[in-house]
Amino acid sequence: VRKINTRNFTRATRTTPRQVNRMIVLNLVREHQPISRAELARRIGIGRGMVTALVNELLAEALIYEGEVGHAARGRKPKLLYVRTRDRLVVAVDTRFTQTYVMLSDFSGRKLALEMFQTPYSPERFVDELVQRIHGLLDGQGAEGECEGIGLAIPGMIEHRTGRILNVPTLRWRDVDLRGRLQSRLHLPVHIERDAVACALAQMWLTPPGAHGADNFVYVTVSDGIGTGLVVNGEVVRGHGDTAGEFGHMGISQGGPFCLCGSQGCWEAYASNPATVARYLGRPLEDRESYERLREGGFTIVELIARARAADPAALAALRETGRYLGEGFGSLINALNPGRIIVGGELTAAWELVSGPIAEAVARRTLTAAAAATPITPEPAEAYPRLRGATALVVAPLFAMPRVA
Ligand SMILES: [Zn+2]
Repeated sequence: VRKINTRNFTRATRTTPRQVNRMIVLNLVREHQPISRAELARRIGIGRGMVTALVNELLAEALIYEGEVGHAARGRKPKLLYVRTRDRLVVAVDTRFTQTYVMLSDFSGRKLALEMFQTPYSPERFVDELVQRIHGLLDGQGAEGECEGIGLAIPGMIEHRTGRILNVPTLRWRDVDLRGRLQSRLHLPVHIERDAVACALAQMWLTPPGAHGADNFVYVTVSDGIGTGLVVNGEVVRGHGDTAGEFGHMGISQGGPFCLCGSQGCWEAYASNPATVARYLGRPLEDRESYERLREGGFTIVELIARARAADPAALAALRETGRYLGEGFGSLINALNPGRIIVGGELTAAWELVSGPIAEAVARRTLTAAAAATPITPEPAEAYPRLRGATALVVAPLFAMPRVA
């Protein structure tokens, strides 16, 4: 049951039932396409006339289209319905401490073009560079005008209502109106979200249902930091001030390696990519400068994984230790939230068979029931560009979401 907030609610109007049914039709087409009107009517349990009227509305707004003719035992063959995705474009942006990736994609998350640049430390320079790149991408594809929005996945905390950046510890961006600056220069809707939340939204809205179709899961991004996107009962958990999900800064120990948030001993200071690389290179993370030196040094987790594969024992040991720390954190997540599954994104997934053993051992040690210990932990391969798909989902998801009343 959901309690009605009597201070902040949206009341139902005369058109609410129709809006709700329209979104149900749109989502059924999305999930079961290609689908006939008869099949839609059967799935919703309403009359053919009502379905036809709703389908006609969606067709008129070009949200769906009629494709090939389907099969019928007798009579006229039905025209099947599809959600329109191919010619609706999104610019997806994945910003990290090291690089920023910019991808032009369609509404299904399909990649059309991709480029990257080193992330400037100053938000002003970042905006300049990004605006230039986005114009270039849209011009290059001859696609200006068809783009329906920009989605940005950011490694930090965002105020959901305003899109203001509250804090990106790795880049030291605090209280920045990135959305406002980008919207005024690009004249397109801009959606900004914490990276792991964006990845979770992509699981809900872009991944074919059935693959990860649980309503309760945690998406963990392991990259320059660790981010978590929590989905409980089909909704992202944001918390009182939109800063929920900062498990990356959950304390593993009181001392321990320096974290870019300014504290010590955070989960990500043990298990992020810089933490793994620093462990391998034998360079302790003592302050912000040690992270910056690591970034300038240019030795990445990708090379570390390659060395582990070439049987470099130190590389293998560094990865396995990261696996242990990840498993410790996953165990705590499972104890706290009892998710149906944990999905992991990031470069480390390329070394999954090297880290999954230590992860499973640590999870088994931490969890308290056999069912909790058996929580599936699945990698999402880096080649699937999970963070960029997440940024795409920021633009796509609101257009398929249920209207909120009460
Ligand atoms: Zn921290």
